[in-house]
Amino acid sequence: MARLVVVSNRVSAPKSGTRAGGLEVAVMASLKHNPGIWFGWSGRVSVKTLETRTIESDRISFVLTDLPKEAYEEYYYGFANRVLWPILHYRLDLAEFSRQDLSGYTKVNEHFAEELHKILRPDDVVWVHDYHFLLLAKALRERGHQNRIGFFLHTPFPPVEIIAGLPHHERIISALCHYDLVGFQTEIDAANFARYVESECQYPGNRKDGYNTGERVVQIGDFPVGIETESFAKMARRAIKSSFVSGVLASLSGRAMIIGVDRLDYSKGIEHRIAAFERFLEHHPDWRNNVTYLQISPKSRSAIPEYMDMERNVSTIVGRLNGTYGEASWTPVRYVNKAHTRTALAGLYRGSRAALVTPLRDGMNLVAKEYIAAQDPEDPGVLILSRFAGAAMECKPALLVNPYDSEAVAAAIHRALSMPFEERRARYEALYKIIAANDIQDWPGRFLKALTGSPTLAASIT
Ligand code: UDP
Repeated sequence: MARLVVVSNRVSAPKSGTRAGGLEVAVMASLKHNPGIWFGWSGRVSVKTLETRTIESDRISFVLTDLPKEAYEEYYYGFANRVLWPILHYRLDLAEFSRQDLSGYTKVNEHFAEELHKILRPDDVVWVHDYHFLLLAKALRERGHQNRIGFFLHTPFPPVEIIAGLPHHERIISALCHYDLVGFQTEIDAANFARYVESECQYPGNRKDGYNTGERVVQIGDFPVGIETESFAKMARRAIKSSFVSGVLASLSGRAMIIGVDRLDYSKGIEHRIAAFERFLEHHPDWRNNVTYLQISPKSRSAIPEYMDMERNVSTIVGRLNGTYGEASWTPVRYVNKAHTRTALAGLYRGSRAALVTPLRDGMNLVAKEYIAAQDPEDPGVLILSRFAGAAMECKPALLVNPYDSEAVAAAIHRALSMPFEERRARYEALYKIIAANDIQDWPGRFLKALTGSPTLAASIT
């Protein structure tokens, strides 16, 4: 029987302690219906022997491989996080390219291909996730594998004018054409890649029918990632009554709460957002002491200089705002670096009058969707959403804003806090319908159908 072989950098193996983020939920949903293998990094680096081990759990085999120490640093901290991440988020100015990091990245892709080579069967379907493995299909093809291999990019894909700033993009980006299907979060990302293939690789074809590389036809698709809408809504109904969430709400002393939840990452626009909240307090003195903005931002990639800089900036501007507008009895911005469970977040979302989700650029942004799912239909809060988040393509009834325009975001905060019930409910109902129609449970089936012709592997194999 054909197996689904999922490949990603991080693997949520049982007892690995990895936090269940968007990618993990999505992969588990795909493996639920298609028995197979989840292949990835073990979380261990080694200077001597590299081990690959298998953990069997609930019809899924987790195959975990160690990585060589120096290659790991070059591949992960260097090339993936300091070159690909900023460029894919339109930040060429933050990219720190070195040939050595690219060489480490190439080595790790080769190592993954070599380990996969040992376990792949000819009828396995391979689904590779994210920018860590742009070169993997090429490395597998070089080892003779003709399997169906799909790739999904969780981040944005910028226009060719930006991606062409990546040194050696001709080799790195065009390697994606060794996949049978390259999937993106939105139509904009898919169209950007199609334009890249046309102008840089010059393969004949079009966005709808795919591009002929001479060896295969590479298809391009958009598959926006969703959330487990109904179960998240249920979780929020329960979580708001928990002692943790009730305690937070009681501590507000009747003030309205605005919430922001983002990894501490420069793509999330946290500094711009705090500036917008400051503008809001400046223009609306009547709201001072009547609203509290809770920003939950677990630290992320803290060893990287670009992240250290932004951590310092955010702390400075939060301190300045609290110093300027705060009172002995009121802290305008509660800024928390501690990670929270999704259950706790669900309760906090439900207890908030508005959510500020204003990334400068984001592949999708699941927090936006979770906020909607968590609302009380009888008293829903308002989603303020950056037009540059992938989620904005679907979530049109949100208050869409330009995150660079702090005056406009300040006006949206005021509008959200003063919005009449009828309008809040109408927007919420429209949004809930949209996210319920794109549940994460259906997402793998859509991708696999485009890759193999059938939403489940069992049905596709004769
Ligand atoms: N999240 C969490 N605990 C936290 C902060 C975030 O569980 O303290 C979860 C959040 O609920 C969401 C995911 O992490 O499911 C973040 O996904 P998103 O697409 O918003 O951003 P990413 O971090 O993937 O860029």
